[in-house]
Amino acid sequence: MSTDTLQKYLQKMKRLRVDRAHGVAPHKPLLLLAVIELIECGQIQENEIPLSPDLAETFIKYWSKVTNRRPNIALPFFHLKSDGFWHLHANDGYEKVLEVTERITAISRLREVIAYVSLDDDLFVLLADPSNREMIRQTLICVYLLDFKDRIENLIAEGQQITEYEQLLMSEVGHPFSPQKPTVPIPEESPIRSAGFRQAIMGLYDYTCAVCRLRIVTMDGESATDAAHIIPFRVSKNDDVRNGISLCKLHHWSFDKGLISLSKTYQVLVSPLMSDQRPTEWRLTELRDKSILLPEREQLYPAQDALAWHREEVLRR
Ligand SMILES: [Zn+2]
Repeated sequence: MSTDTLQKYLQKMKRLRVDRAHGVAPHKPLLLLAVIELIECGQIQENEIPLSPDLAETFIKYWSKVTNRRPNIALPFFHLKSDGFWHLHANDGYEKVLEVTERITAISRLREVIAYVSLDDDLFVLLADPSNREMIRQTLICVYLLDFKDRIENLIAEGQQITEYEQLLMSEVGHPFSPQKPTVPIPEESPIRSAGFRQAIMGLYDYTCAVCRLRIVTMDGESATDAAHIIPFRVSKNDDVRNGISLCKLHHWSFDKGLISLSKTYQVLVSPLMSDQRPTEWRLTELRDKSILLPEREQLYPAQDALAWHREEVLRR
């Protein structure tokens, strides 16, 4: 990629059409920072960027470092089209709507009309390169967000540490599983540790409860599923992804309380203390012997040692 191309986009970034009125947060630069972060951590791999909960969550994370006002990702997601490198692609049947619509400001309408955006191809290639990416990021920060430079750079560093920890956890599956981990590479209480574990587990189960398949993700990126430890972290100190599973709030609680567990063949075991006869307990008993959702690769399945521990120590009989 020529330096001319980089210069061309640095100039475009400096000249975004933003509302500079006092008190108005710079929506467009914040959305571009969010896109850059998702490219960096591998969540955006193709030049088709949907208005996903991941993108909204990341945008809101940056937004909250700049202002207390309510964010609306629909505004920059739609209006960046006027800057020449951000192209909206309509869902089938909505092409005409996009031609005649002047503005869309509601997220629900935007998701109905727009399938994804793409960047100029040469810009997307630039952003795949770490040093070019950093130049573009620094330009956005220095031109539009100078007052918040430290906060935003801390946020970026934190995101990078979370991804590094996630990658470390994923690389551990090359080694045999051991239930106990004597040392954790980052402080136990660090939010980076729990966020990295969560990112790894959600990557494997796509925010879906392994037991009931519930999948609810709000447009702020909040989800009804937790990254649960099979042998609790306080006991095992072990964030190995094979000691983890994605569970909805109800099934996480039931699993931790020993009302459900998992068999050797990855089927749901229900505590005999739960009865079909009692009102509402059927919500657990009906799961008995159901096969759970598993990651694509067998290497990443919950570890047998961890499941055996859970059956022995937690399942109530
Ligand atoms: Zn569930």
